[in-house]
Amino acid sequence: MPSGDKHARGLIWGKPSDAQRGNNRRRVLRAIMVAPNTQVRLARFTHLSQATVSGIVQDLQREGVVVVDGNDSERGKKVSLTSVRGVAIGVEVSYDSVIVAARRVDGPRVEVDRSSRGAEHGSQVWIRECVSLIKDVVRRTGLDDTDIVSIGLGIPAAVEPRTGTISQVAWALDWERGMDVGARLREHFPGVPVIMDNEANFAAYGEFLYGGGRGAETVLFVKSSTSVSAGLVINGLIYRGRHGLASEIGHLVMDPQGVVCQCGNRGCLETVVGGARLVEQVRRAYIGYRVDLPTSLANVVERAKSGDLLCRRVLQDAGRGIGMALARTCNLLNPEKVFIGGELGRAADLLIEPAAEMMRQHALGGMFNYVAPMTVEASELGLQAGAQGALAFALNVDHVQPA
Ligand SMILES: [Zn+2]
Repeated sequence: MPSGDKHARGLIWGKPSDAQRGNNRRRVLRAIMVAPNTQVRLARFTHLSQATVSGIVQDLQREGVVVVDGNDSERGKKVSLTSVRGVAIGVEVSYDSVIVAARRVDGPRVEVDRSSRGAEHGSQVWIRECVSLIKDVVRRTGLDDTDIVSIGLGIPAAVEPRTGTISQVAWALDWERGMDVGARLREHFPGVPVIMDNEANFAAYGEFLYGGGRGAETVLFVKSSTSVSAGLVINGLIYRGRHGLASEIGHLVMDPQGVVCQCGNRGCLETVVGGARLVEQVRRAYIGYRVDLPTSLANVVERAKSGDLLCRRVLQDAGRGIGMALARTCNLLNPEKVFIGGELGRAADLLIEPAAEMMRQHALGGMFNYVAPMTVEASELGLQAGAQGALAFALNVDHVQPA
């Protein structure tokens, strides 16, 4: 078969009647599409035995679907795809932005685009932005809409793992409990599976697969932008909890007498370090002065980076607030690696040290003292973590061929 004639959909979308052998084969293929890897790592990723993976890889090699390269030891050889037609999509919808990532399943290059109109602009607007961004990035990969294999959709709401619908969302958005936001996107890409989850869960998954969390056993990712949320990956799996509300660090109560939060509680972390609160602090301090007031968290971050002392102080204090919440979280979870991402991840040089200092003060010392201490770092993937994680997650779900 000439290269490029193989279609990813045909290779990895199964039929309901498929035997176990076909399922395993597709599982291995999907894992290679998520990231080319050694057979040992593919076995770990797919939870299949090494013998099963090895047999499947030999078959795929004979059929010209994969190549096994590298001249070092047998274990070190990497399995990757030959030319296959297919593109995977990841979307991260935030309050004030939509970020879309696209990657051909047979290559490493990720195309990313962004719109500054997100969930807070209403569903009609963000879906329109999202569809147009997807079409653009797909075109940039040299493929077209009919080659889309899957779409991962990260949203700023908790998603019930059993039903794939919203289990809790801020009142400020035009979404409600029980809603399947992905259905709106599916209308524009008929037949393409749209897999929805909380955006911080996907960010943690992205960081675990492609960023600083590669190979780590437990990854905790805090996304701090307009809202504050977190995702947790344990042994390669996203931990969601019974209702998809696990790791909602933004709603840890830091001060029971504090400001009322959009969730209905008082004094949540989000009321202390959420984007609107940080912008408000800066604006209030400048009342009566003839200065340009920041209108967004991105503004505050930019100003802090260019030396504005007031903005720097606000972000350093936010780092301390996040560190305090992380100290409590880490005492429960004892993760291996902690990442701070979202808009505040861009100010990591200001934030990380105050956060780490609070964690050293308030979390159990054993996490920091031994041979492999817990680390706290800025997200390596930055604002792309959620979209890249969404892309990989949806690609790796077992899809049934539409009739
Ligand atoms: Zn809250």
